[in-house]
Amino acid sequence: MVQIISGKEIGEEIRKDLTLEVESFKKETGITPGLAVVLVGENPASLVYVGQKEKACEQVGIISRKYALPENASQDEVLNLVDQLNNDSEIHGILVQLPLPVHLNESEILNRVSPQKDVDGFHPVNVGKLLLGEETFVPCTPQGIIELLERTGVEIKGKEAVVVGRSNIVGKPVAILLLQRHATVTICHTRTRDLAFHTKRAEILVVAAGKPHLIKGDMIKEGVVVIDVGVNRVNGKLVGDVDFESAKEVASAITPVPGGVGPMTVTMLLKNTLRAAKSLAQT
Ligand code: NAD
Repeated sequence: MVQIISGKEIGEEIRKDLTLEVESFKKETGITPGLAVVLVGENPASLVYVGQKEKACEQVGIISRKYALPENASQDEVLNLVDQLNNDSEIHGILVQLPLPVHLNESEILNRVSPQKDVDGFHPVNVGKLLLGEETFVPCTPQGIIELLERTGVEIKGKEAVVVGRSNIVGKPVAILLLQRHATVTICHTRTRDLAFHTKRAEILVVAAGKPHLIKGDMIKEGVVVIDVGVNRVNGKLVGDVDFESAKEVASAITPVPGGVGPMTVTMLLKNTLRAAKSLAQT
């Protein structure tokens, strides 16, 4: 019987622990962790994600403040807002919701966020630390994937891990985290010649391609653990990058979409925000 890895349930467990941790941090220091969410424009998916993040903050006792700028906001307006938040002592984490409108220079904006408040782990200083294996803010989705594997009791050490996708926010960092936990890691992407050759070898398969049903049951090996990161809207329904129906016949464990990786991403944001508040409280 295939095991369905519920990020919803595992995320809830972690949020319960976080609620207690936030409460005792508040008691000890008098500080309430604060997250600032910067939203530029009105991308419908971003509005949904920001809403989920605000709700989750409230659930565990973190204050969230939304800063909504119009679609035509200038680069300077966004940078000034980030500067202001960097200097705001009530804000411990800053999240710039992506994607930004195309006229904005995304990397300049992300680089402006103080590395100490970079709860998304996108600042080059934190990316560098991650690569070096130093303590840092780990990007939320990759961190959530590792938590899912570890809390499900999946041994990573020595395993053949295959990651489909090489984006800066999912593919590359999750590959690094798997490598740090001693998996043998292969990264596949759009120029990979024979995708199925690699995916068939995987004992742990992480798929973050943004292509609905890219991975089918006949492309994976018996007993593989499948983590489906993809979120695609097909005919009004959310589907992953893995064809769940055929893959679940072959895999030993698999994440559903929705209810798999998504809730873990938001939960790791809460964890990173508390961590930021704790470390800023010591400075
Ligand atoms: P992206 O578009 O930045 O990167 C996609 C990667 O997949 C690229 O590196 C590309 O080379 C690779 N790819 C695309 N088609 C491929 C193919 N046919 N064969 C092999 N490789 C292929 O996307 P991203 O930001 O990494 O997100 C990936 C997916 O994960 C999206 O569906 C996104 O919505 C979803 N996502 C979900 C969460 C979550 O919390 N659940 C978080 C982030 C992203």
